[in-house]
Amino acid sequence: MDRLKINKEVTKGIFEKVREEAEKMKAEAEQGREAEKSSEEKSEEKPETLILGIESSCDETAAAVVADGRHVLSNVIYSQVPVHTLYGGVVPEIASRAHVEKINQVIRKALSDAGKTIDDVDAIAVTYGPGLVGPLLVGVNAAKSLAYAKKKPLVAVNHIEGHISANYIDNEELKPPFICLVASGGHSHIVRVDDYGSYTIIGRTHDDAAGEAFDKVARAIGLGYPGGPKVDALAKEGNPRAIDFPRAAVGDSPYDFSFSGLKSAVLNYLNSCEMKGIEVNKADVAASFQQAVIDVLTEHTMRAAREYRCDRVALAGGVAANSGLRNSVKKAAEEAGMNFYMPELIYCTDNAAMIGAAGYYDFIAGKRADMSLNAIPNLRVGENKGNIIVTP
Ligand code: ADP
Ligand code: MG
Repeated sequence: MDRLKINKEVTKGIFEKVREEAEKMKAEAEQGREAEKSSEEKSEEKPETLILGIESSCDETAAAVVADGRHVLSNVIYSQVPVHTLYGGVVPEIASRAHVEKINQVIRKALSDAGKTIDDVDAIAVTYGPGLVGPLLVGVNAAKSLAYAKKKPLVAVNHIEGHISANYIDNEELKPPFICLVASGGHSHIVRVDDYGSYTIIGRTHDDAAGEAFDKVARAIGLGYPGGPKVDALAKEGNPRAIDFPRAAVGDSPYDFSFSGLKSAVLNYLNSCEMKGIEVNKADVAASFQQAVIDVLTEHTMRAAREYRCDRVALAGGVAANSGLRNSVKKAAEEAGMNFYMPELIYCTDNAAMIGAAGYYDFIAGKRADMSLNAIPNLRVGENKGNIIVTP
């Protein structure tokens, strides 16, 4: 009897133990499942798409790492301004050599500043036009070599579309369609951004670009190169209504520009003052010239936004760094009840973060360049000569 009782006790003990063990195993299994679920959930979160952007179209050697087209992990710019200041403007041959000397260093720094290696990036995006052919070729060849050696997709980016895409940086809410005024050293356009990577040119300059006019007027009043920021600073001390410079209308296009007439008017004014022995107030000339440019750019941009029924207006390009223009278009857009966007100053002038941003949208649209990619100095907005569409 006693033995039976003992056996029963033992069996009960074992049974309890087994049950405890089973409970533990069940709890562990549940824990495991939870952990698995949360890691599955995590892996369902889309990993970031990293683009290495490379820019060398004019006098800035630049590289940047950009995540998902909107977040800049690094932005390295080697400016050649001190090199060209001596000559009063960009000397293409000197620019090409300076790009060759700096490009690898700049790319390496962009990767290390971002805490990434070239293996981490999903694609390499490079400016292939418009710009100076020699400088463009340096960036294009660096990007091609890297893409080939590391077996990375290569995306060819239009420089002006890069300027426009600078508006996406740190700006989650901006989505096409919107009207963008692109004003830089080489270009002045009003563009309707129909969709990512899809553009319609509404207005263009018939002669000088806005930035070119700034640079020429700066030289004429002895401010030197680069003219835009210097005119901008001096204009703050002058009277914008002191001299009535012309606001040119061009033919019957309500959106086009002409700045060479304005530039000539400034030169004529300076000459006539000199001939009459009148001392020129440079701050008033800078302020009045700048106001004439701002008035035309603001008026045409707002007209385009109204006519094309777009309630979003953006600025892009080096001249978008102008404080007067930023305030003027912002005020006009707000008065018209439209949303206004502009890139941070560092993303207005040439940089590679904007190329990474534009490159991201080209990349996810399946656009790919191959080893035959060449520089196209006179590429136009919306022209896609560097990529083919790869369908997944
Ligand atoms: P590009 O792409 O044509 O090479 P950028 O986008 O680098 O030109 O812009 C450079 C141009 O922007 C120059 O003409 C320069 O004078 C002009 N610029 C830069 N900053 C200002 C400013 N604050 N005001 C007016 N123009 C400016
Ligand atoms: Mg530019």
